Amino acid sequence: MAQAPGELSLRIADMGAEARDVLRLELVDPRGGDLPVFEPGAHLDVHLPNGLVRQYSLANDARERHRYVIGVGRAAPGRGGSACVHTELRPGMALRCGAPVNHFPLVPDAPRYLFIAGGIGITPILSMVRWCEAAGRPWRLVYAARNRSRLAFYEDLAPFGGKVQWHCDDEAGGPLPAARLVAEAGAGTHIYCCGPAPLMEAVRDAPGAVPAAARHF
Ligand SMILES: Cc1cc2nc3c(=O)[nH]c(=O)nc-3n(C[C@H](O)[C@H](O)[C@H](O)COP(=O)(O)OP(=O)(O)OC[C@H]3O[C@@H](n4cnc5c(N)ncnc54)[C@H](O)[C@@H]3O)c2cc1C
Repeated sequence: MAQAPGELSLRIADMGAEARDVLRLELVDPRGGDLPVFEPGAHLDVHLPNGLVRQYSLANDARERHRYVIGVGRAAPGRGGSACVHTELRPGMALRCGAPVNHFPLVPDAPRYLFIAGGIGITPILSMVRWCEAAGRPWRLVYAARNRSRLAFYEDLAPFGGKVQWHCDDEAGGPLPAARLVAEAGAGTHIYCCGPAPLMEAVRDAPGAVPAAARHF
């Protein structure tokens, strides 16, 4: 199929298991060139071999130009997008993608950032925490999954030490107390939340000093 203007022809340089039901893919320019810049929170439209187009957030450091890293969770039941990634894609294959688009931009000058991620929702948050760390901005992340085997990008997050708080539902005896996190966040905090709908609803609806305009989903 012909490539539309602005579309990218990428190659899968590497892929592998990142967590249970989550694959990590590294995409590069087949000629080794620089890729278009992206902002933290941005995603790619990925044209899959089965004809479906699905969006995947860029998880790597936005200063990198030589690759895009995405993480794809296997959705069940689904219409076949994530299943296609998990069963049909292989290293070395070509992949047609849109240029990076950002519908989840990070306010660059917040006094502090609270990131709340659930499951595969960690992907856009990961590029955001990398940006905060590089820019010396105050941040912390609370990352929840049903159990340890589902915590994706652990190796990437572990070096951030105490700035990352892990929550496993099975060990904690229940889901993340999202309302309490929001209630405890001081005025001036910007909250960025990505994850399953019930988590985002809990963050959106929780009372607290952080106004709706500073809660981003
Ligand atoms: C901006 C953006 C960024 C994203 N980033 C990522 C990312 O980094 N990683 C990632 O894994 N995914 C990401 N996604 C989601 C991704 O694009 C796909 O939606 C996902 O891979 C599932 O695709 P699918 O075709 O397998 O499932 P879909 O058919 O899209 O189904 C997804 C889920 O929706 C539910 N569902 C499907 N059909 C119905 C129905 N008829 N009625 C009720 N519920 C239904 C099911 O519970 C299913 O598990 C992102 C989406 C957006 C919009």
